[in-house]
Amino acid sequence: MRKKILVTGGAGFLGSHLCERLLNENNEVLCLDNYFTGNKQNIEHLIDNPFFELIRHDVTMPFFVEVDEIYNLACPASPIHYQYNPIKTIKTSVMGAINMLGLAKRIKAKILQASTSEVYGDPEVHPQKEEYWGSVNPIGPRSCYDEGKRCAESLFVNYHNQNNVRIKIARIFNTYGPRMHPADGRVVSNFIVQALQGQDITVYGDGSQTRSFCYSDDLIDGLIRLMNTDDSVKGPINIGNPDEFTILELAQKVIELTNSKSKIIYEELPTDDPMQRSPDINKARDILNWKPTIKLEEGLIKTIEYFKTVI
Ligand code: NAD
Ligand code: UDP
Repeated sequence: MRKKILVTGGAGFLGSHLCERLLNENNEVLCLDNYFTGNKQNIEHLIDNPFFELIRHDVTMPFFVEVDEIYNLACPASPIHYQYNPIKTIKTSVMGAINMLGLAKRIKAKILQASTSEVYGDPEVHPQKEEYWGSVNPIGPRSCYDEGKRCAESLFVNYHNQNNVRIKIARIFNTYGPRMHPADGRVVSNFIVQALQGQDITVYGDGSQTRSFCYSDDLIDGLIRLMNTDDSVKGPINIGNPDEFTILELAQKVIELTNSKSKIIYEELPTDDPMQRSPDINKARDILNWKPTIKLEEGLIKTIEYFKTVI
């Protein structure tokens, strides 16, 4: 029997890859999106599939449907987009979680939350383990996203404790790949677009801050494995690639792989920009039997090829 699966934020970067994978695995997929940062081009190639359905809806409003599983991805993920309307970002995370958890409770569906490494804030513990509670500025410019996602985790845990909702929490670390929006503002898309267009590469701060970049296919595999665990596995579980790079190293790699003549320029570091980030993925290895398989260089080459087709 085909499972019926709802993917909120399904027209976004990660959501569109998830919809595609779930369809390939013979599921019926309902893709819900309000197109704030996602777009129909991302899922255009799926529209003719009879087991794919597209729904324009905002997760801050209640939604009713009969499904077996819900992947809750709806939320802008790039700092420029989540800071554009911070109150809306909080509503999307919090009211979106309440609406989707209420639905899961009512129809007894399993539900997975796309949480984030941002729950660790600017971490004092490195690499970040799931047991670490984080260091988040509750009133800073990133708080609409960080605290929204932290509240969503709390809602998930409490819907499980109070109502036995079957939950899964994935803490996603920086992920990149084809279908990132060229104007999304995240570092990988910015650098590739700048390098391909011969513009200056904008490194914020001195570029010594670190991130660990996971390729989209690896990440989607981790999410699906988590959803398919038995009900005792609730998470949170970190999903990301532990290979850590400075932002300056990333800039140099992108210049090299694109053969670009772009120069690196330095701009102001945004407020509360985390200085280091890398996941401890022992839980994902042990519980999901998952680890990333695509090295940064390999993933960047695929992503560069994609951006060449869209810009
Ligand atoms: P994205 O911006 O490409 O996708 C988010 C999708 O959600 C978009 O299609 C957008 O239109 C939709 N959306 C936003 N607000 C909505 C609302 N109120 N109602 C319905 N749809 C709404 O970002 P992404 O990188 O694909 O991220 C997907 C999820 O994964 C997000 O929840 C994000 O927080 C999480 N995440 C992503 C990363 C990453 O590096 N890509 C890291 C950590 C967490
Ligand atoms: N960054 C940068 N130049 C850019 C975009 C981002 O130097 O054009 C830096 C940013 O300051 C941060 C890192 O790259 O230190 C990752 O930024 P991104 O917005 O991709 O993700 P996040 O900060 O949420 O991890």
